[in-house]
Amino acid sequence: MSASRVRWVSKKLARGGVALVSSAVFRVRPQGPPAGIRALTYHRFGAARRDPFCVSPSDFEVQMDWLVEHGRVASLDDVVRFARGERVVRDGAALVTIDDGSISAFEHALPVLARRKIPAVLFVSPGLVGRASVPEPLMDWNALRACAAGGLTVASHGWSHRSLEGLRTPEVVHELEASRRLLEIEIGAAVEAFAYPYGTRRDFSARTEACVRAAGYAVAFHSQHGAIVPGSPLLSLPRVKIEGGEDLRMFERIVDGAMDPWRGVDRHLAWTQRPAPATAG
Ligand SMILES: [Zn+2]
Repeated sequence: MSASRVRWVSKKLARGGVALVSSAVFRVRPQGPPAGIRALTYHRFGAARRDPFCVSPSDFEVQMDWLVEHGRVASLDDVVRFARGERVVRDGAALVTIDDGSISAFEHALPVLARRKIPAVLFVSPGLVGRASVPEPLMDWNALRACAAGGLTVASHGWSHRSLEGLRTPEVVHELEASRRLLEIEIGAAVEAFAYPYGTRRDFSARTEACVRAAGYAVAFHSQHGAIVPGSPLLSLPRVKIEGGEDLRMFERIVDGAMDPWRGVDRHLAWTQRPAPATAG
């Protein structure tokens, strides 16, 4: 067995184990599944085997159908209001977010989302728009405008997809302000949301959060697992990653909060969470 296959199988066993144990605990405890709503993170769509950042288009379609059929769809505005204490959506609702603006999100996710009127959020880096990136090209401005026309919110993932925590403060300010400005010009809509590139514990801090606030963003997401609950700080919201190669039952468990405890891995094993730069995050 190759090292990459060992890593893939171990991670899937660990994720499946956490989800299974959590779901069993939810069933026996009187208060049921954890309260709150979740922001789901996707990256790419396609048939790539053993790539956790790539979800098959047919799995994605089944997952979106499940959210719609079960009344679990939340918009960015719903998330903001929910965190502020307004119960505008039920516990267990989910916001769909897609990072990086890979071309497969345009080809496979946009049609699925637009047909179901799911108000997903696309986090892109304006400095990389249209690049022939690896493992796949990134959307150009026309594709991003088509996403906005299809009902998606196009928001900032930093100017150049670098970890803000590794930058000097003037560069952090540039990443935040220039990205917002160009997105607003090219898309023609206000940009209020930001997602930290990579989003691990090592990629943001009180310093970068202060910069995000000063740049005028109303809401920011990292990549640490967890639920969004009334009172959650709007500039430091958790997200839950949806990985390729997992079935609908696993997706349902994740939306219900079964992967929330994975934040322990986020906190203590940050080095395992961060992919090679070429595969993004
Ligand atoms: Zn990213």
